[in-house]
Formats: sequence, structure tokens, C-alpha cells
Amino acid sequence: MALERDPIQNASQALLARMKFYRELGLTDFYRRDVGEVSPLAAGLSGTVPALPDLPFDELAEPASASTECELQPIKTAAPQPAATPQSAPPQTLAERIAALEVIRADLGDCTRCPLHTGRHKIVFGDGNPAARIFFVGEGPGADEDEQGIPFVGKAGQLLNNMINAMGLKREEVYIANVVKCRPPGNRAPEPDEANTCTPFLFRQIITVRPEIIVALGATAATYLLGQKQPLAGLRGRMHSWRGTKLVVTYHPAYLLRDPRQKKEAWADLQIAMHELGLKPPGKSS
Ligand code: URA
Repeated sequence: MALERDPIQNASQALLARMKFYRELGLTDFYRRDVGEVSPLAAGLSGTVPALPDLPFDELAEPASASTECELQPIKTAAPQPAATPQSAPPQTLAERIAALEVIRADLGDCTRCPLHTGRHKIVFGDGNPAARIFFVGEGPGADEDEQGIPFVGKAGQLLNNMINAMGLKREEVYIANVVKCRPPGNRAPEPDEANTCTPFLFRQIITVRPEIIVALGATAATYLLGQKQPLAGLRGRMHSWRGTKLVVTYHPAYLLRDPRQKKEAWADLQIAMHELGLKPPGKSS
């Protein structure tokens, strides 16, 4: 007769397994954090964000073909957010950050930690300036990204590039990564297990790059960064925090390609980030 384990035993076994997983990643320091922390900054922003005269990335509004873009699908369950921090102090110089990112990439290796590895062609680690002031987080690679090993290179990527340019930045100046590094089949949203297995690497990338602000692109990025599942509408338009780093939530570019009317809202979100970084749209000097 099989012996039934009590729920506390089950939970502690699961916790031990997860701690072992983090130890294997080289992460040993843990702390508790409040989920859903919202900065009071948001309150002061309404008066500082300029009106929306036009939409600088509007001309791109070509609808994405469903087969090449990540669909925004409902998140099935809110994921627990184990906090993992590197053992040593975050790197300071550009060279240290480059080296630290290489270590993270090496730790990731030819990853087989979750089922997504079976369908992937290339791991999409992340791309951009290792000392970027702004860090964009998407959901997961689509077909083009899976083929090239670079995030946001398909149609949604073209729109993201234009959004970045509208902010007065070049793509090479920012850092871009995803919640998961392997393409989910059919561009579905990552399952919580897949996302929770992969996000420790994303978190280490963010800790290494040390951006001044994170932009969560879409509901999946928002859910796994904030540790809470909420409709995007309730999260966007205000400032949040990820372990003390400011974070804004906006629509995923693939969603904007399908519903260009929401670009105005996305531009308002990006302006919150721009305000934080002291950026003005190109051509606006005052
Ligand atoms: N959608 C994403 O979320 N990430 C990519 O890299 C590409 C499309």
C-alpha cells in the first residue's frame, strides 16, 4: 500500500528540489520580497508626461501574421517568484558586465532544463548593451528569433525597434531578453514551470546589466517580473519596482500589431520610462 505524504512534507520536498536547482545555477542567497510593490512615483507622473501629439511609431502598423508572432495568451496560473541573487556584488564596469553575462550564458549551456528545449533551434539568450539604461523583457522567442538566436527580430521586433527609436534611443543602446529563452511551440505563452525554470537566468541578466528601468512587454513579462497575475490594463500606466529597479508595463508589440489603436497607450507608457531616464523624443529639444 502506498504511503501518503502529508502536504507539508510535499511542500518541503518541492522547496528542497528548487533550492537544489538554484544551487546548481550558482545562486545561494535568497531574500523575501513584497510582491506587487508599486511606487508612489506614478502619482506624480500624470503632470509630467507630455500630451500625445502623434505616435512616432505609428507608421509601422502592419498586422502581424499569427504564425510568426508570439500570441498573447492568458497566463494559466500565477507563478511563485523565488528570489535568486548572485553571491557576489553586481559587476560595475562594462568589461565586468560583459564577463558576467558570458558566465550566465555558460551556466545556461545547451539547456535541457524544461521541455521547451525539444523544439528549439537556437537559444535566444538576450541582445544589446551590457550596460544599458533600459532593459526590455518580452515573452519568448518566435519563429524568426528561434532561427536567428536573437530576440525581437521578426515583425514585432521591427515595431519594438521603432518604439525604441521613437524614445530617442538606438536598439544597440538597450538590452532585450525574454521570460523564456526557447521558443514555445506554436508561439503559445510559456507554461509556469517553463517560465519559472528560465527566469533565474533573466534575473541574473537584469542584475548584471543594472538598468535604470525595466520595460515589461506584455502580460507574461509583467506576471513573471512582478510575481502577480493581473490584467495588463491594471498594471500599465504607472511605475512598479523589480527588486528596487523601476519597472513599467506596456503592451507587447505583437499585440500592438494586431490592435494598433493601443499604440497611443503604449506610447504613454514609454513616455513614463523616458521621463525616468530624462529622455525626449528625437527632434524635441525642450
Ligand atoms: N516576441 C517575444 O516576446 N520575444 C521575442 O523575442 C520575439 C517576439
